[in-house]
Amino acid sequence: MALRTIRKEGDEILRKKSREVTSFDDRLHTLIDDMYETMVAAPGLGLAAVQVGVLRRVAVIEIDDKKYELINPVIIQSEGEDIDVEGCLSLPDYYGTVKRPMKIKVRYLDRYGKEQYAEAEGYAAHCFCHELDHMDGILFRDKVIEEIDPADLEEREKQSEEDK
Ligand code: ZN
Repeated sequence: MALRTIRKEGDEILRKKSREVTSFDDRLHTLIDDMYETMVAAPGLGLAAVQVGVLRRVAVIEIDDKKYELINPVIIQSEGEDIDVEGCLSLPDYYGTVKRPMKIKVRYLDRYGKEQYAEAEGYAAHCFCHELDHMDGILFRDKVIEEIDPADLEEREKQSEEDK
């Protein structure tokens, strides 16, 4: 496994549409393993292949101790809405609130090309939608409702912990 370079906003590749994966070979497995290692090292909750310069519909996500490898994912159900703060490894030090569905169901392929389904709710739904947007060249900045000063983030997180 190897760490890959994370592309930053301004790099044109981040605005391109990724293509579907058609071969589930060692090359794909290496890409996924490298992406996971790169995400953990960053650290981040999710990473799309385009962020390491590969225009394929692949994302890795790790949230609530669950690890997902999403290939050619499609949202097949969504309900409700939820506004929360997002960040992105390609947009360092930029944070803002984004509106996403509260709950989604996704159909995708695993690294062996087998069809799988996943459900995500709350912040996990934010992560899934955020990574799927990357596959279509969309950055979360395009959807930000209110920009959040990084210095205020900790205070906000404390506040939302107390609200629970
Ligand atoms: Zn991102």
